Amino acid sequence: MRGRIHSFQSLGTVDGPGLRAVVFMQGCPLRCACCHNPDTWDMGGGKEMSAQELFEKIYRLRSYFGKDGGVTASGGEPLMQTEFLIELFTLCKKAGISTALDTSGCVYNEKVEELLGLTDIVLLDYKYTNDADYKVHVGMSKARVDEFLEKLQRLGKRVWIRHVVIPGLNDSEESVDMIYALRDKYNCIEKTELLPFRKLCLEKYHSLGVDFPLENIPEASEELMIRLKKDR
Ligand code: SF4
Repeated sequence: MRGRIHSFQSLGTVDGPGLRAVVFMQGCPLRCACCHNPDTWDMGGGKEMSAQELFEKIYRLRSYFGKDGGVTASGGEPLMQTEFLIELFTLCKKAGISTALDTSGCVYNEKVEELLGLTDIVLLDYKYTNDADYKVHVGMSKARVDEFLEKLQRLGKRVWIRHVVIPGLNDSEESVDMIYALRDKYNCIEKTELLPFRKLCLEKYHSLGVDFPLENIPEASEELMIRLKKDR
């Protein structure tokens, strides 16, 4: 089967454990205000590749993965191409390559459950701690990501929570406490990562002729990140 791939990073260190090949899948139904990959949104964009071709690219890198690394499917929203990823991850698992999925948790169905059965670790983007912000700044209800997390818990998946800290929007101590407190309820959560809001994507927005909704919000400073991570 053929999929639409936005880009491929040979060896990334920030999308899951160890050294990983990162596949950025094309297409996303959401419009997160903080999105740094607006060029992945278009479902018809990207480059077409077969799962076998993509697997071969990944397989060539296997000697770098070590015991922790592997492949991460990111995006865009990888769950827009679940069937393609089922084929890719099946090939990877047969070859002993560890698989990770970086998702917003926006969709859950039987195919997603099948894919999760082939996924070793889920990087779940948990963006805000209240429904109003989710609706305004993401375009879906917070209940969806909570339901997704419930399913991951039930399936006994390894989960890393990823949370982009945006000054003035979700950077209060209370909000960050709530993100870390998810671990009390869901023991499938192995790690909580706070990531700083950055505006490196501004050029992409300008070249696409799309407004960046957070253009006037400052980037998250190192001081803020150190303070929020302290004692947590
Ligand atoms: S889910 Fe990811 S790719 Fe889609 S809009 Fe949000 S940040 Fe961007």
